Amino acid sequence: MTKKRILITGAAGFLGSHLCDKFIKEGMHVIGMDNLITGDLKNIQHLFKLENFEFYHCDVSKFIHVPGKLDYILNFASPASPIDYLKIPIQTLKVGSLGTHNCLGLALAKKARILVASTSEVYGDPLVHPQNEEYWGNVNPVGPRGVYDEAKRFQEAITTAYHTFHGLETRIVRIFNTYGPRMRLNDGRALPAFIGQALRGEDLTVFGDGSQTRSFCYVDDLVEGIYRLLLSDYAMPVNIGNPDQITLKEFAEEIIRLTGTKQKIVYKPLPQDDPKQRQPDITKAKEILGWKPKVSRAEGLKITYEYFRSLPKEDLFKLPK
Ligand code: NAD
Repeated sequence: MTKKRILITGAAGFLGSHLCDKFIKEGMHVIGMDNLITGDLKNIQHLFKLENFEFYHCDVSKFIHVPGKLDYILNFASPASPIDYLKIPIQTLKVGSLGTHNCLGLALAKKARILVASTSEVYGDPLVHPQNEEYWGNVNPVGPRGVYDEAKRFQEAITTAYHTFHGLETRIVRIFNTYGPRMRLNDGRALPAFIGQALRGEDLTVFGDGSQTRSFCYVDDLVEGIYRLLLSDYAMPVNIGNPDQITLKEFAEEIIRLTGTKQKIVYKPLPQDDPKQRQPDITKAKEILGWKPKVSRAEGLKITYEYFRSLPKEDLFKLPK
């Protein structure tokens, strides 16, 4: 039997690189694609020596071409953290719209099944708690986060249109906050920000009064959920995340205990449109995919902290890309 071939866009990023590892492990031929705008080849350098891996350095928002057959496409190319998409708002809108359109066209041409990476941000600052897939969200299109949220909402709409109009096999995963090795320390998200501050001996910055909640999913759990969704026959969006929620203040305290830092928490004003609460309802993932997260926050944080600790000292002081 010929090997299944899968294209993974955003392959050099945090999630894309873990997905490359997973599909190589499942015996597929993986074609990674990335323009390295927020990603890093270091995340996939261990794959370059493998026969089952190839890499295309290109921008998916422009024309994309992959020779040979393709069975699957995972579209993960997009800046993902506020610090990135606020700096490159137009590229963020383009990759979510034009980039997704290009991937859908390629999937159609190759008769491949495509899974697109959507996000809990499509729920905006949610008025329903926890968020299930039937909730339409509360997004400010002209707020600072609008460039990301609306690009992802458009992505869901055009993916669904390709499914209904062209009969393309599509899957949509709504990813909630995920963490683990290969995140960037300086990507502005709470978890690497807290660990980075602890490692540099700085106070931990909490925005607002810290009562806003987040739930953090360990990357291995997310990857397993995506794998199951890709192989399922379900075309509507599915939440994948860890419902175990915590306030940001408690989370900062957890990081202080984990790292043993002597520093304290300092409070700064809340950025505009910062969501107050985020917690996935994963009933659908449980029912349709038989999936639920397995890695506790304590376990996942330990592995992630060890990863950040093992990085060269100069990485601790690197400015965002
Ligand atoms: P990341 O920034 O680490 O990875 C994104 C990758 O996409 C990078 O390697 C970047 O260089 C690449 N990229 C961006 N624009 C591109 C373009 N035009 N052409 C080719 N490559 C391009 O981010 P991540 O955390 O790995 O996120 C990956 C995907 O998952 C994104 O689509 C993001 O929206 C989604 N997501 C992530 C999370 C999370 O918690 N990490 C949550 C929700 C959704």
